[in-house]
Amino acid sequence: MMAQYLEIKERHSDALLFYRMGDFYEMFFDDAVAAAEALDIALTKRGKHLGEDIAMCGVPVHSAEGYLLSLIRKGFRVAIAEQLEDPATAKKRGAKSVVKRDVVRLVTPGTLTEESLLEARRHNYLAALAVVRDDAALAWVDISTGAFHVTALPPVRVGPALARLMPAELLINEAVDGDLAETVSESGAAVTPISRASFDSAAGEKRLTSLFGVGSLEAYGQFTRAEISAMGAIVDYLDLTQKGKLPLLRPPLREAEARMMQIDAATRRNLELTHALSGGRTGSLLAAIDRTVTSGGARLLERRLSSPSRVLDVITDRHDAIGFTLEQSRLRMDLRDSLRKVPDLDRALSRLALDRGGPRDLASIRNGLEQAEAISETLSGAALPTLLQSAAQDLTGHDTLIELLGQALIAEPPLLARDGGFIAEGFDTELDESRKLRDEGRSVIAAMQTEYAEMTGISTLKIKHNNVLGYFVEVTATHAEKMLSEPLSDSFKHRQTTANQVRFTTPALTEMETKILNAGGRALEIEKRLYSGLREAILEQAARINATARALSEFDLAAALADLAQGENWCRPEMDNSRDLVIEGGRHPVVEQSLRAQGGAPFVANDANLVHGGDGAHIWLLTGPNMAGKSTYLRQNALIALLAQMGSFVPARTARIGLVSQLFSRVGASDDLARGRSTFMVEMVETAAILNQADDRALVILDEIGRGTATYDGLSIAWATLEHLHDANKCRAFFATHYHEMTALSAKLAGVENATVTVKEWDGDVIFLHEVIKGAADRSYGVQVAKLAGLPDSVVARARVVLDALEKGERDGSGAKRAVIDDLPLFSVAPPPPPATNGPSEVEKRLAEMHPDDMSPREALQMLYELKDAA
Ligand code: ADP
Repeated sequence: MMAQYLEIKERHSDALLFYRMGDFYEMFFDDAVAAAEALDIALTKRGKHLGEDIAMCGVPVHSAEGYLLSLIRKGFRVAIAEQLEDPATAKKRGAKSVVKRDVVRLVTPGTLTEESLLEARRHNYLAALAVVRDDAALAWVDISTGAFHVTALPPVRVGPALARLMPAELLINEAVDGDLAETVSESGAAVTPISRASFDSAAGEKRLTSLFGVGSLEAYGQFTRAEISAMGAIVDYLDLTQKGKLPLLRPPLREAEARMMQIDAATRRNLELTHALSGGRTGSLLAAIDRTVTSGGARLLERRLSSPSRVLDVITDRHDAIGFTLEQSRLRMDLRDSLRKVPDLDRALSRLALDRGGPRDLASIRNGLEQAEAISETLSGAALPTLLQSAAQDLTGHDTLIELLGQALIAEPPLLARDGGFIAEGFDTELDESRKLRDEGRSVIAAMQTEYAEMTGISTLKIKHNNVLGYFVEVTATHAEKMLSEPLSDSFKHRQTTANQVRFTTPALTEMETKILNAGGRALEIEKRLYSGLREAILEQAARINATARALSEFDLAAALADLAQGENWCRPEMDNSRDLVIEGGRHPVVEQSLRAQGGAPFVANDANLVHGGDGAHIWLLTGPNMAGKSTYLRQNALIALLAQMGSFVPARTARIGLVSQLFSRVGASDDLARGRSTFMVEMVETAAILNQADDRALVILDEIGRGTATYDGLSIAWATLEHLHDANKCRAFFATHYHEMTALSAKLAGVENATVTVKEWDGDVIFLHEVIKGAADRSYGVQVAKLAGLPDSVVARARVVLDALEKGERDGSGAKRAVIDDLPLFSVAPPPPPATNGPSEVEKRLAEMHPDDMSPREALQMLYELKDAA
């Protein structure tokens, strides 16, 4: 056995080997040590190899999925070696013969299909990156849904593309190095280097044409060498990990980058599109807008949000779909009611295709198709807009399959086919007969128990069943003697004595057992055969079922976004080919929701107006104190453009958006210790990327760029950056800064306008009004904000003195800061004297005695007059 183990392990040296032994998957040697630690299970020993103890640990087969998940999450790959024959067959070959075993599947992060191993509402992508000379390409597949995509792109765009897809696993050519290797390792995917041969584009082409049964790939589009290489690598890897059982792959769809809004990794992070900066989904835009009721719908939403379109027709069609479902509120409710009952069709189908499914997957297909049919009826007669019209056509046409599954399956079948019991009565006569025989046998046994009890005079005699003895007669030990002596010992053969019981069999019982077993076995065999038939029938329709699943997701998403638009009071944005961004009453969807949840002051809506030419400005320079709401405002404008282009309504009173080609968002001095670069370096690298890439249709938001260095350096860089955006990039931009000096630029550059977030100063404190108005902030209120934050009074007071002196120095032109600083009075730690040292004032005393609850409005007014007198 060890020889067999070592031979299999040798072929799968990069994976943990789960070696099936009876009801357990066992691991040995280093695998056992690693797995025992990762899973926190006991490490034991078994036998010796080359004179050393063999380390061993194991997990029960029935609970293996949970352990698999932990291992995959911890970055392991797992090879599963099953027993390929009945141990009895092996025994027949000879006493020392070992049961045949081999790896039936390699479990890796990108090739999961089990419900328990996947997040229902997210895609799980396996991607491959290919580089052929100066061209790169990414292909990706969700094997749990069969969706297969590819895109050609220059190597510098690989990082952003990976940030969009967030693949669970990324295949790379083992020869990849340099910048690309760094990009790959930053993507967060589990990286699997595979051989050059897997990436060979000529071999890849052959693999693909034979997989899809076409003469040439041109049927699906014009692919570059790199694209074919990436797609070929994926197919080869699937073949390797699934051991020849290929999942249902849809023909590859070529994605043109030019049709999508480009968003790089830093921008995605910064805008918290699918993950909050804190890491989780909560707090992200996705979490705030997801009202879908099916897993497929949720995945479609994530996909759309990750790749907003820049094609006017596509966007308009999506807005039309929302507009329609928004208006038809009754229809929308019915639709969502039906959709709630739709199971995950895609994933059920893929499990069936890989022969990893069970009766419950058959039922999912049945239920999903039934609901699709019902939805189609709900829609009949409705004047659907284009997108929904074409989706509606994919909802029907499954009558035969629905009928077949409806008749064949019971209402709620078990997860596994193994134990049978899922085919409905009346579907197959032979099955019904076998089941009848089996059940009759069981009642005959019940009758035998009564008969034996009478015959022996032992009323507590029972007939029981276990896996070792089969059916047996059991009496308590007190009756042992009677049973073991004549005449009873003639009929009852002793089999076993336990602490309290004695067990027997009889020839009649054994005969009955064989009958039951045979009938039961036959029933099971028939059920398994019927299962395969139903599975085949479903797989024949796979492409159409996929189309139905996609249609259902489309309806789910349209209804969910309509529900959101209604609930949150969003508007339909007007889209055009201009380069304007005009928003009235815009809000930040996530901040708005969280303010509401806290029950505090409502979110203050704000306008934006970026236009090219005329009196307008395409760059807004935003000043205002910290905490005023600058970042929120910047981000909300970016999010509104992004939501509009993914095909959603937007959080605003009105919005007119000229298509945005690229979205950039940068925040100054955000620490990026993980990459080991200084804060300022990161900031500059990211700013450089924008200045080098942004075209005149881009939308850029820059928040406090230049903050990471000395004042004059920072100001100079921010200044030059803004000029470049204005003169060279000519794009739309919101630029927030605390360098008030920059407001002077608006006078020099025609396309720049100053704006500020209003605050009110009151009694030495600052109150944030969160309202964005045109004009420059007069001062930064840093001292006031510091006070709010709880800096000691003495420090705040001192800061005021220093500030006054500095400002005075600047104003009277005496300039020399040196002199100003020399003239400053000395710092004193003692707090300024409290306003009232001799006890509470008259007013305070009266206030303390007052009980507003007991006052009438009139008394309260009277009291106010008195207080004013006393003050
Ligand atoms: P800044 O970038 O100017 O330092 P932020 O944008 O981080 O300020 O905003 C600070 C806080 O003010 C936010 O956390 C939010 O709670 C609140 N806030 C921002 N904008 C608004 C608004 N328009 N309406 C209400 N509250 C807001």
